[in-house]
Amino acid sequence: MATSTPQFVASPQQARLPYPYRPEADVVAQALAALEGQLTWPAVIAAAAPWVDAVRDKPAPFWAMESLLREYPISSAEGLALMRLAEALLRVPDVETAIALTADQLGRAEFDSDNVADGPHKMLAGLSASAISLSKKFLPGADEEAGILKRLGAKTVVAATVRAIQLLGRQFVLGRTINEAMGEADSQRKALGGGRAEGAGLRFSYDMLGEGARTEKDAERYLASYANAITAIAGGRVAAAPQTADGISIKLSALFSRYEDAQRERVFAELLPRVWALVEQAARANLNLTIDAEESDRLELSLDVLDALAARIATTFPAWQGFGLAVQAYQTRALAVIDEVARIARQHGLRFMVRLVKGAYWDGEVKRAQESGLSGYPVFTHKQHTDISYLACARALIQHADVIFPQFATHNAGTIAAILQMARAKNAAFEMQRLHGMGEGVYREVMKDPAVGCRVYAPVGEHRDLLAYLVRRLLENGANSSFVHQLADKGVEVDLLLASPLAWVGPAPFPQPVDLFPAEGGLVRRNSTGADLACLAERAPLDRALAATRVPEVAEATTAAVDQAMARLDAGFDAWNAVPVTERAAIIRRAGDLLDARLPEFCGLLVKEAHKTLGDCVAEVREAVDFCRYYADQAQLKLQAQALPGPTGESNELRIHGRGVFVCISPWNFPLAIFAGQVVAALATGNCVAAKPAEQTPGVAARMVELLHEAGVPADALALLHGPGETVGAALVADPRTAGVCFTGSTQVARIIQRALAAKNGPIVPLIAETGGLNAMIVDSSALPEQVVDAVVQSAFRSAGQRCSALRLLVVHESIADGVIEMIHGALAELRVGDPAELATDVGPVIDQEAYDNINRHLERLQREARLVGRTVVRSGFPRLIAPAAWELDKISDLKDEIFGPILHIVRWNGDVEAVMREINALGYGLTLGIQTRIDSRALRLAKLARVGNVYVNRNMIGAVVGVQPFGGEGLSGTGPKAGGPHYLYRFCAEQTLTINTAAAGGNAALLAGLH
Ligand SMILES: Cc1cc2nc3c(=O)[nH]c(=O)nc-3n(C[C@H](O)[C@H](O)[C@H](O)COP(=O)(O)OP(=O)(O)OC[C@H]3O[C@@H](n4cnc5c(N)ncnc54)[C@H](O)[C@@H]3O)c2cc1C
Repeated sequence: MATSTPQFVASPQQARLPYPYRPEADVVAQALAALEGQLTWPAVIAAAAPWVDAVRDKPAPFWAMESLLREYPISSAEGLALMRLAEALLRVPDVETAIALTADQLGRAEFDSDNVADGPHKMLAGLSASAISLSKKFLPGADEEAGILKRLGAKTVVAATVRAIQLLGRQFVLGRTINEAMGEADSQRKALGGGRAEGAGLRFSYDMLGEGARTEKDAERYLASYANAITAIAGGRVAAAPQTADGISIKLSALFSRYEDAQRERVFAELLPRVWALVEQAARANLNLTIDAEESDRLELSLDVLDALAARIATTFPAWQGFGLAVQAYQTRALAVIDEVARIARQHGLRFMVRLVKGAYWDGEVKRAQESGLSGYPVFTHKQHTDISYLACARALIQHADVIFPQFATHNAGTIAAILQMARAKNAAFEMQRLHGMGEGVYREVMKDPAVGCRVYAPVGEHRDLLAYLVRRLLENGANSSFVHQLADKGVEVDLLLASPLAWVGPAPFPQPVDLFPAEGGLVRRNSTGADLACLAERAPLDRALAATRVPEVAEATTAAVDQAMARLDAGFDAWNAVPVTERAAIIRRAGDLLDARLPEFCGLLVKEAHKTLGDCVAEVREAVDFCRYYADQAQLKLQAQALPGPTGESNELRIHGRGVFVCISPWNFPLAIFAGQVVAALATGNCVAAKPAEQTPGVAARMVELLHEAGVPADALALLHGPGETVGAALVADPRTAGVCFTGSTQVARIIQRALAAKNGPIVPLIAETGGLNAMIVDSSALPEQVVDAVVQSAFRSAGQRCSALRLLVVHESIADGVIEMIHGALAELRVGDPAELATDVGPVIDQEAYDNINRHLERLQREARLVGRTVVRSGFPRLIAPAAWELDKISDLKDEIFGPILHIVRWNGDVEAVMREINALGYGLTLGIQTRIDSRALRLAKLARVGNVYVNRNMIGAVVGVQPFGGEGLSGTGPKAGGPHYLYRFCAEQTLTINTAAAGGNAALLAGLH
């Protein structure tokens, strides 16, 4: 995108804020201390109670969000159906899918149009409720073929439901275009009436709706739309003051698809010039431009952006006071953010406008912390803590009034009354803010005070762009803890509704990320520790380890060494197998803890030896830790002797023990996780292990073996045998002392092993084989294209496509295929391919020259047989880089072999989705499958039909978590049982039934003694 703006260059990253995962109680205590003596809560209640009473006396119309959610709470089937329809229905382009989606969602709910109360909007209320209940009569059942008459009826009902959702959505959108929105804003201003103090009254901050940018094209579209909006808002005039004029809110994630900490250089070089173009426009018109607050892992980056822009504003528009950003009080670092923003303002001699919000992504933040095994939550876990933080931040903003114009965004009457109390005590200038469609009743009352000004955050956009925003608001309003929700419920006493959050400090209502897993059989498994790569304090040890780590040299084993090792292990078996399972489990658990503590060192090794990106390395070490802890627990739980029922005079017991020497052969693509998983499963069950790592990655394996010995695994129970598969691997498989083989790798090698085992004399031994897949993702037209593309990019290209679970074949519905393909094309252009040691690298090299040549041969074939959809430009000279690419094929069966690289194949489908599933099954592999649909019953039907081991609905299809998504497939993809699952260990075991005739010594003493 061409701009005449001088370059922005990334400043060195600095830690501006405290650690995000400090104990919550400490942070709350700090906020409470800041509020000491600042607030009189009885006065807050006295001010706010009449507002509440007045709002409750004039209940919102039926179709308003509050009423609708009271009628159909999101915790009910009806509320959930409504939310899901609202999210998806308007974007579905084809009638068939729209009917299926509506039938699916409404089929599971009990809507009743008779419940609609009388009122001025009876007609509208009637429409939505009757559309919903009518649907049940006309729509085909999920499994039922639609007859022609039913189809006609169904179309009408779908149209009515679409209309009802459009009307619902309109509650939250001020206009479809900026001009329409501005017209509506003027009407609202007029309705409020004049006669107000200077600075009071109603003003607007317009927000151009849409999902975040996935491509450069998206970013250009948003930039144009923001620029156009600022021009319209300015109307060719220069406003008297940004504090009293309408303004704009912008999302940085809409202006750049890679607005993330890892892409810092690009954020400065590419995003900042775009923001600057908007800043210049807003500054010239003297308007307020606010940067919206997004996810917590972008918080520090957003301050760097603010600082860089402020430096340029200070020289270009020093008198402008309209620049600002939103701060989320639910973040544990919120207070520090405010101080830092004030510091930046002072440093540059500017005055900012700061909007204080509580925060809109709370559920997402909690989920991310749990998934990533973070050392805490970056947000508060109690609503009261957020409220306390909000008030402490409000006080801080008021204190910084010389450099900050505070904008308090809340719909909570208690919070509003508390703010007014604090602001008036200091005689501070400020404004209140609310979202369009929310809090109207409360602000009608609050603004009866002619000194209070309020800005309305006003989304502008078409229905298609409204959906994600609408769902956020549905969730926000639907949450039981939400003020708006409770305000609508007269059952909640006013005193309770306005109760003071101060002095309320409680323990987290759900476990910390590390304590995620519930106890099983009295054993508590700790979640593996992750690392927040956006946090300098957590990344520094990884950077240091990366610089310091050397990959150890590992000598290849000779045939004689293999023989010696097998003899030693065979001799060591009885002793290791005799160690009580609890002791073996304790050793494996200790290994897990050691590994957990050495995350940085192992990440360094993985980057250096396996050329994995840092994010992938963290995930891999965590998986290995999880394997240790999970299999230790499973062994302890599952390997206990079990008494069995039988006739009197006899005892029966089933005992489980190791089989002997297990040969574990692992691949290079997960040189730690798969290696460790196989080895510790075999060890935990009492087997001795001959571990053969992949030829490319013996160093990681050697370190893991050292660690296992350090944890207490005896030398005679585990041996590392590095060398080629053809010699070392073959010798191990052929060895008569081998009691079982656990293999992960290609289907072809699994077959060779199977044949070798079958051909040799001696014991018949089990083979556990996990092999590859031709993994597909089926996308129907109810799916959200942005979510699909996110999942596709992660599943197909992460780890350079070198995962068995990776997506190879995207099967996308014809009606949305063009749009999805265009977005994939754009997303490919945004990937960074290069040195895996660099944080900004998304895709590193493939493992070796052989892999590189194989993929290139496949690409030559695609060149002849397929159409190129898009390809990343490789700008790095790092060796063995394959440009991630997507190719379109004519049909599913055109894909024949698994290509282990960042190559995606795309096929369009139309007609019967179940036939598509059968075609995928016919490929013969059965590892992973992705399904993207909002039709729940369809997802379940496809999953049932699929002959694959792991099915992922509406998410990516990689990164199976131990004990959560046991991993492994069927058919050409492996034998099972699934790794990381509850049935895995049994395959490593031999069983013995011990039957003792307790009456052998002459009679049944127990029976006679009455002990039966
Ligand atoms: C003008 C305006 C602009 C906005 N801009 C942004 C923005 O840029 N970025 C953004 O993220 N949001 C933004 N929001 C949305 C805002 O975050 C929510 O509207 C707000 O949180 C609702 O708070 P409340 O005081 O109205 O309601 P309340 O009901 O008093 O508070 C609800 C809030 O409490 C918090 N919460 C709920 N449960 C818990 C819990 N268990 N533990 C901890 N906290 C909890 C959540 O933040 C939730 O949103 C904006 C809102 C307005 C009015």
